[in-house]
Amino acid sequence: MTRSKVVELLNNGNAGDSVTVYGWVRTKRGNKQINFVALNDGSTINNLQVVVDMEKADEAVMKKVTTGAAVAVSGTLTESQGSGQNIELNGESIEVLGEANPEKYPLQPKRHSLEFLREIAHLRMRTNLFGSISRLRHAMIFAVHEFFNSKGFINVHTPIITASDAEGAGEMFRVTTLDAKNPPLTEEGEIDWKQDFFGKATNLTVSGQLEGELAAMAMGEIYTFGPTFRAENSNTTRHLSEFWMIEPEMAFYDIVDNMDLAEEFLKYLIKYALDNCMDDLKFLSQRLQQEEKNKPQAERSMELIEKLEFVLANDFVRLTYTEAINILENSKPNKKKKFQYPVEGFGTDLQSEHERYLVEKHFKKPVILTDYPASIKAFYMKENEDGKTVRAMDILFPGIGEIVGGSQREENLDVLEAKMDKMGVPKEEMSWYLDTRRFGSAVHSGFGLGFERLMLFVSGMTNIRDVIPFPRAPKQAEF
Ligand code: ATP
Ligand code: MN
Repeated sequence: MTRSKVVELLNNGNAGDSVTVYGWVRTKRGNKQINFVALNDGSTINNLQVVVDMEKADEAVMKKVTTGAAVAVSGTLTESQGSGQNIELNGESIEVLGEANPEKYPLQPKRHSLEFLREIAHLRMRTNLFGSISRLRHAMIFAVHEFFNSKGFINVHTPIITASDAEGAGEMFRVTTLDAKNPPLTEEGEIDWKQDFFGKATNLTVSGQLEGELAAMAMGEIYTFGPTFRAENSNTTRHLSEFWMIEPEMAFYDIVDNMDLAEEFLKYLIKYALDNCMDDLKFLSQRLQQEEKNKPQAERSMELIEKLEFVLANDFVRLTYTEAINILENSKPNKKKKFQYPVEGFGTDLQSEHERYLVEKHFKKPVILTDYPASIKAFYMKENEDGKTVRAMDILFPGIGEIVGGSQREENLDVLEAKMDKMGVPKEEMSWYLDTRRFGSAVHSGFGLGFERLMLFVSGMTNIRDVIPFPRAPKQAEF
């Protein structure tokens, strides 16, 4: 007999079918005559109810059927009378593959706090919540590739170990094989990176963009989807030290084409979740409502599915940074000094509190901000005619703040070189990057979507450490 998955049986199983399922016991209840075992195998949020006739069952085996145990069950499907599903399984033979001692197994059928589950991240995927998040995450990964593939974009793997600190992000993780206790030194007493593995200082990448641009200037439309690493010590609910980023880069796209693509992309992903993950979204929605019960009405967020549908149904608001600063300067929280960081005119770097005010209080819709001051953005962004602003675009989402950061890229070699000089970006080391501007340069654009920020939005979770299986954050690298 071959193995059936729970999801197949619940969706397509027929009464009378003889089947075998493998999975883990979620709960067992019942009495001397009959036992009900809720079985889950990770294929769906829903459990298969296994009904066991205790008069025929082996008592010693059934004793080992406890929460968390791995079991194989063979039997006949029957129509269910009240398990919440149409089908249940008459368990005629049960084999315990792996016991889970109830005195030691940390996951018991009760509500565990998210904090506790983070401490046992090696087991938390066995809960309903983290099962749902895992399936949703997979669906979103799949949808990312489907979206770009359907548009003829080429997926490019950009390097994870890099020698350039070009993003100016600064805070990178060093990659080295030098002896930490006794590194080779130069005459000046500095660490001699020439003697390191790669013959130079190397780091983990903070973005695949620069290499992505090289590819776009050959292949037209490309995207990367890889891990990125940032050693910034920001212990927030929206930052990880290791996260996944999707970075499309397109030749011949200007900033408007770039915004159009980003909006279409985000809506595609959200629609994909609604079309394909409804069981999990319903569960996540209930969880969110449960959690928000204790909050005052005004602070409660929109119901999850309603929120996703709302974003699909509305155009994102597009406005310039300067317009946004105007709104923020005249806003109530700014006048009443409620912002932690006051808004002080053109040049203010927007903080998450400002972004969220615009999105959640003022527009009540996703917002795309453009034309930021050149001084607060990276060197590669295309300068506007005003000489003050650049063609940057950040997409801001409710509950999240920045979810996408992108721009039209500076394609003019002279302007770019002058900018690099001004900002202290080493031109010689970046000669390979500048070649795209030396040879066959063209208008091009791209953006980066933080995959876990997207996951926060779609799942309704509030801490980014709960939407990646094994989070990496300051002082946290277990599992
Ligand atoms: P923020 O201001 O929120 O720190 P950023 O300006 O540093 O973001 P970018 O360098 O533009 O972000 O990166 C592109 C996208 O990557 C962001 O829009 C966001 O979705 C995501 N992102 C950035 N930093 C992190 C992080 N530490 N953890 C998870 N996602 C991140
Ligand atoms: Mn950042």
